[in-house]
Amino acid sequence: MSFESFGLHPDLMRAIAEAGYTSPTPIQSQAIPVVIEGKDVMGAAQTGTGKTAAFTLPILQRLMPHANSSASPARHPVRALILAPTRELADQISQNVTQYARYVPLRSTVVFGGVDMNPQTAALRSGIEILIATPGRLLDHVQQKTVSLSSVSVLVLDEADRMLDMGFLPDLQRIVNLLPKARQSLLFSATFSPEIRKLAKTFLDDHPVVIEVAARNAAAENVSQVVYVVDRAESKRAAVAHLVRSQGLRQVIVFTNTKIGASRLARELQREGIPADAIHGDKSQPERLATLERFKKGEVEVMVATDVAARGLDIAELPAVINFDLPYSPEDYVHRIGRTGRAGASGQAMSLMVAEDQRLLSEIEKMLRRSIPKESLRPQREPVRAKSAPQEKSAPQGKSVPQDPIFSQPYQPKAADPAGLAPSAAGSTASAAPAKPAVSGRALPSGIRRAPRTVPALLGGKQKA
Ligand code: AMP
Repeated sequence: MSFESFGLHPDLMRAIAEAGYTSPTPIQSQAIPVVIEGKDVMGAAQTGTGKTAAFTLPILQRLMPHANSSASPARHPVRALILAPTRELADQISQNVTQYARYVPLRSTVVFGGVDMNPQTAALRSGIEILIATPGRLLDHVQQKTVSLSSVSVLVLDEADRMLDMGFLPDLQRIVNLLPKARQSLLFSATFSPEIRKLAKTFLDDHPVVIEVAARNAAAENVSQVVYVVDRAESKRAAVAHLVRSQGLRQVIVFTNTKIGASRLARELQREGIPADAIHGDKSQPERLATLERFKKGEVEVMVATDVAARGLDIAELPAVINFDLPYSPEDYVHRIGRTGRAGASGQAMSLMVAEDQRLLSEIEKMLRRSIPKESLRPQREPVRAKSAPQEKSAPQGKSVPQDPIFSQPYQPKAADPAGLAPSAAGSTASAAPAKPAVSGRALPSGIRRAPRTVPALLGGKQKA
């Protein structure tokens, strides 16, 4: 599926192209046509799946007939209301709306608590079609009569599960009572708990279109996890090079906690003859996508990434990830390892730590409610890969590599999804396709198996052989 197939306005297509998006993500493929039709939607999708564009683009498309450049506030009533639980999320959505509406005369603003109300009031008074808000602050504005919601034709409840957790239900009820009954409503939530279903019954029409995309970080049950303890932080670079070589990893994301660390590691690996590149927040979206393309083609074998950058790229289904640094938040660990081993395929998550990282590891183990096996790793200096010579993997280094069969078993990619749609979170049963044999003419030392070459399903795209 392509963005062209949605019939979006050329001014929206221009903004999409400038954002560097080449194809819709699974949630976008499913939601955009349905929302353009005006139907109510109940969507299970997490942040990082491209969910914001999935509702914003069709809303903008639907509001196009109202787009105008008049200076009169009366010509710009609030027509779309997007509610989010936190100031950060509201702000992020607002930035996305601004980006996608760049070439369209539809105005937007964001209101959230904890900051001065006056600039928000001024923005509301000047007239805006799209309002992004946290519930409490929106009600403050309603009370002060700085905003009218009587022309709202589309309501979005984003991260509805978190809104319930944060006790916003009474506020939501109050807000919805102020909206016209005839409207389109969209609800997004990470999960469909009984409470969310109840909320949907109250706020959506009787037959909303239910859309679910796979939760990236499900339990990651089929991911083998191991922590390698290295003697000091300076040994980590050699440890990564060792793991990549000894296990024949041809497509791996290495996570670092800092942008500087990502760039440095990529440079050092390049120096060692390992095709590596870094993606992080200081690189533009087109730059990140270019690196991703090279990663897909196999020109880059090791992509070093920070959490934020990797999230923006929506990469999934890799045979392995390596945590160069243990993340500060256990949720990030789950996010990282959830990029491998989905849909029945086995994946590996390897983490490096020094003794001082024990606290971070304990927090991760507490959240996972399980301990992660620890191995010690003393990588030896490996020969630098000759640039022009055929590259060969060095033999596993004795005891330092665990003899877990997972390391020699081929990665089994899931069957390519012709529609580019991910399986539903509730019933993710797509069977794993048989592993393709390793495609390579290059000889390996006897007894060493190269991990089969796989291309991850990126951005919901098809897998290429
Ligand atoms: P969201 O889930 O809405 O927070 O989006 C996560 C990230 O994905 C954001 O950084 C978006 O800019 C990016 N994104 C959204 N749609 C696409 C797409 N079709 N192609 C590439 N990146 C996208």
